[in-house]
Amino acid sequence: MIEELLKDSVKSLTPYKPKNLVAKAKLDANENNHVALKLNEKILESFKNLKINQYPDSDSTIIREMLARDFGFSVDEIILGCGSDQLITLIINAFVDKGDKILIHTPTFDMYRITNQVAGGITIEVPLGENFEFNCKEFIRVMISERPKVVFLTNPNNPTGGVIPKDEIIQVIENCPGIVAIDEAYMEFYKDSAIDLVRKYNNVVVLRTLSKAFGLAGARVGYSIASEELTEAINRVKPPYNVSSVDQLVARVCLENKGWIMEVIDEIISERERVKERLTALSDIKIFNSEANFILFSIRNAKEIYEYLLNKGVLIRYFGEKGPLTGCLRVSIGTREENNLFLELLEGYVQL
Ligand code: PMP
Repeated sequence: MIEELLKDSVKSLTPYKPKNLVAKAKLDANENNHVALKLNEKILESFKNLKINQYPDSDSTIIREMLARDFGFSVDEIILGCGSDQLITLIINAFVDKGDKILIHTPTFDMYRITNQVAGGITIEVPLGENFEFNCKEFIRVMISERPKVVFLTNPNNPTGGVIPKDEIIQVIENCPGIVAIDEAYMEFYKDSAIDLVRKYNNVVVLRTLSKAFGLAGARVGYSIASEELTEAINRVKPPYNVSSVDQLVARVCLENKGWIMEVIDEIISERERVKERLTALSDIKIFNSEANFILFSIRNAKEIYEYLLNKGVLIRYFGEKGPLTGCLRVSIGTREENNLFLELLEGYVQL
């Protein structure tokens, strides 16, 4: 009976279920493994001010003010979400009616498609190229003929790490009949943001998160930057108290420590290049160019390698044997020690 009561769009839904495996080196979810201990101490200190009996500030004002100052925007152009996941949901809930279309490139982050399916929307997919490069001409052609309400561009993209050149982003925006959401979850590792385009185009919303570069995946804090008009529209569907007081306190500590975290980000970028170089020396491997804090590669015996590494305590991401990611593995850039453990095990396995 419960199955019958379900919305049609949910009946066929496969939920996004991250694996909760414990590992010596957890390199499967693009987290920042460097900042935890140092931040934890400061976070615990800040908890002395926590008023857990009261509802949180529903507008997350302090954090929005900090972000507004950092980026040179007004607080009315910023929304805080329970992760950028929630902002994806808010955008879809605000704009997608049953039967409306969204447009994405694939492969990409699964939550656009899943959230859209729940909303009853139709997801139009434009495949990335052979090396997972963005196919701008084809994307715009499909966009013009399908007229999606919302277009998602993921830059850098997950799970491929590839980027979309700024001039192509502008071409998409200039031809788009709807909202363009640019998901910059990994932008701190690439540094060529589209945030400036928000000033020029009032249909553009940029999504950011503290989960990746800033090491706060456990706190669930993301934010959007868009024109006041678009921000007001998205805010209409935002539930009250969507970011807990614990998470707001943690985000505040994190942003107050931005200085040294930015240095850690630079270390992660140079580790990414070192890992890439070591991987390049292996046989039967194809490495996709990444500007994020992870590297996607395809390799012979991907499944066996994933299982071998897991047995040795190193958890990376395996994408199964279906679709364009067949034979691909994705490794997040961890600490130098974690990266070395991964590389040594993989090098040892490939030589077996
Ligand atoms: N966008 C992209 C491209 C992602 O990879 C992720 C997380 N994997 C998110 C958004 C969601 O991040 P969060 O909800 O932690 O902010």
